[in-house]
Amino acid sequence: MIVVKFGGTSIQDAPAIRNVCDIVISRVQQKPVVVLSACAGVTNALIHCAELAAGGKEHEARNRLNDVIFDKHYELIQDLIEDLRDQDTLVREFTQFKEELEHLLYGISITGDLSSRVLDFVLSYGERMSTSLVTVALQERDQRAVLIDSRNCLVTNSMFGKAEPLIEETTAKCESVIRPLIDSGKIPVMQGFIASDVRGITTTLGRGGSDYTSAIVGAVLKADVIEIWSDVDGILTADPNIVPNALRVKEMSFQEAAELAYFGAKVLHPSTLLPAIENNIPVTILNSRRPKLEGTSITAQTARTDVAVKSISYKSGITVLNISSTRMLGSYGFMKKIFDIFNDHSTSVDLVTTSEVSVSLSIEHSPDLTGLLQQLEEFGSVTIQEHRAIVCIVGENIKRERGLAARIFGRLLDVPIDMISQGGSETNVTFVIREEDISRTVKELHDEFFSSITVTGVFE
Ligand code: ADP
Ligand code: ASP
Ligand code: MG
Repeated sequence: MIVVKFGGTSIQDAPAIRNVCDIVISRVQQKPVVVLSACAGVTNALIHCAELAAGGKEHEARNRLNDVIFDKHYELIQDLIEDLRDQDTLVREFTQFKEELEHLLYGISITGDLSSRVLDFVLSYGERMSTSLVTVALQERDQRAVLIDSRNCLVTNSMFGKAEPLIEETTAKCESVIRPLIDSGKIPVMQGFIASDVRGITTTLGRGGSDYTSAIVGAVLKADVIEIWSDVDGILTADPNIVPNALRVKEMSFQEAAELAYFGAKVLHPSTLLPAIENNIPVTILNSRRPKLEGTSITAQTARTDVAVKSISYKSGITVLNISSTRMLGSYGFMKKIFDIFNDHSTSVDLVTTSEVSVSLSIEHSPDLTGLLQQLEEFGSVTIQEHRAIVCIVGENIKRERGLAARIFGRLLDVPIDMISQGGSETNVTFVIREEDISRTVKELHDEFFSSITVTGVFE
């Protein structure tokens, strides 16, 4: 069996959904399980509605719910579904969803309380609607598609907004709910992003989490391949929003792609590759608008190549903390104490650099660092640099390449650099800059490493 996951842009309108149905049908022999995001823009719109309601603007929230979300879905039903009875069933189902959401928004507005638990439940409607629609569209094309509620298959902890799967429980549920459908030649269609905790309460895996769903399902059901269909030709040499002529990378190792995803390449949710790596399942990134293209194939081992740099990514919204302390001089156990504090505040550290008397750490922006800072200040003086970005240059040959640092920083003579790190994984060089310098930095580096690339077998 295989997993095919389609992101929001792949199901944004009726022609796009028809394309998706064609792709699924072309995979029937491989026994596909279909994982879907919400239609493009729907998750953002639901968040907006919930926030409006929490801010006391219930009327505005309701209007947006109708205008942005439900008008769009009713229109999709009209454009996509041919049979009038099918149309009617879907309209009734979605109207029920609308009423539920209106009640939820009312509740949020009178309490003014938007907890992440409630938000996860609100967001679940996006994926529940897209999967309902696509299931019927597939059935109308004579496919034995069956809608599954992912909340009956994926079991997570109760970290609402960023839940992590409980693999044993998830395996048991997927085996009992999904496996029999695959074995009897049916096509399970399920929501990405949403899951439930052991009590059955709805959770989500974090923004962009449908990729992660596809990898979890692929891993527990031992898929032959996990196909992630998006709106780009594959993993590109840089974010195409910054470098429009970025090249497609044909092959990447798990390690390379994991670094890229972790350091900001939006095309893959950062946790996606873990389940694939653990189970050695290839992941392919494909373009649903150009399904004949090969995309990017991500596997344990790639063909040997002389190319040093495969891609450049960046992650904005980074804060750097610098802790200076003469007490650090020659003392052991200092780092442990510092990291324990980050641990206590459930804050993960991306980059670390140290000198004899100071340590700099980068973390994701957090609106309230008061508690963390208070504890760190017991160890020395702390300065903060906000609105920073991590730039990450990835390639398995980086460890062997001579003169790479000179090439990187020689191109960035007038870009202030806050931290530099190489060697953590041997497949990347990472450094921290100001957010406002992201665009020119990525462009310069892309020019340095990719402008003279002819077709090498690695890029296209
Ligand atoms: P989906 O809705 O299919 O999940 P996303 O918007 O989450 O799609 O991810 C795809 C987007 O990721 C692309 O449209 C592109 O703008 C962005 N992106 C950023 N970095 C890269 C990269 N290195 N390669 C490909 N796409 C990238
Ligand atoms: N719909 C969710 C989001 O927009 C999950 C996803 O698209 O992967 O974040
Ligand atoms: Mg995505």
